[in-house]
Amino acid sequence: MEIKRRHVWKSYDWHGNDGLQNLNYCPACGTKCEQAFQGGRDRPVCPACGFVYYKNPYPGVVVIIQDRDKILLGKRAEGSFQSGKWCLPGGFIEYDEDFLTSAIREVKEETNLEIEIQSILNVSSIFHSPELHTLVVTLVARVVEGVPRPGDDLDELRWFSYNDRLPEMAFPADEYVLENYDGLKRISLPVNTSITSEQGVEQKIT
Ligand SMILES: [Zn+2]
Repeated sequence: MEIKRRHVWKSYDWHGNDGLQNLNYCPACGTKCEQAFQGGRDRPVCPACGFVYYKNPYPGVVVIIQDRDKILLGKRAEGSFQSGKWCLPGGFIEYDEDFLTSAIREVKEETNLEIEIQSILNVSSIFHSPELHTLVVTLVARVVEGVPRPGDDLDELRWFSYNDRLPEMAFPADEYVLENYDGLKRISLPVNTSITSEQGVEQKIT
C-alpha cells in the first residue's frame, strides 16, 4: 500500500533504503539480535532477554523568535551538520523535559536569550538520513531578556525582516515555516499554561 506522507521533508531517497533495522546487538544484554515480526513489522529482537528494538523518530523543537517584523536566524558553525547554512534555533528534547522547557533551554544555549513561548506553529516529520528521522515542533516566541550571542552549534546570529530574501537554509522545513509564516500563524495554537504537571503528579487538563 502506498502511504501518503504529509508534513514530511526528506533529504534522501526513502525508497530502497533499509537503514531502519540497524541494531546488531541487544543494548540490555549484548546478545546478537535477530529479526522477528513484532508489532506489525520486522524488528531486531534479542533471543536471550526478549528486548525488542522499536526504532522511532527523535523529537525536537525549533523556535521562531520574533521581534516586531524581524526573526532571528542562526548560521551553523563549522563542523556541525549543514555548516555555513542558516536555521532556526532549536534542538532535541531531553528525556526528562517537556517540549516547551526544551525550547527555552535550546534557545538560551544557542542565542543567550531568555524567551517566552507564545504559540505552537507547526509539526513536521523530517527524514534527514536513513539513520536520523525527526519529529519537529515549531514554536513562536518573544524575547524576554538578553543580548543575542551565538553558542553551541551556531557561530553567527542575525535578525532578518519578513520581507528579506531568506539566506541559504540548512533545513527545508525551516524554510517552509518561514515562507508560510503569516498563514501558519493564523491557525497556530496558543500555549495553554493551564496544562501543567509538578514532578510526580499526574497531568490534569481542566
Ligand atoms: Zn538481550
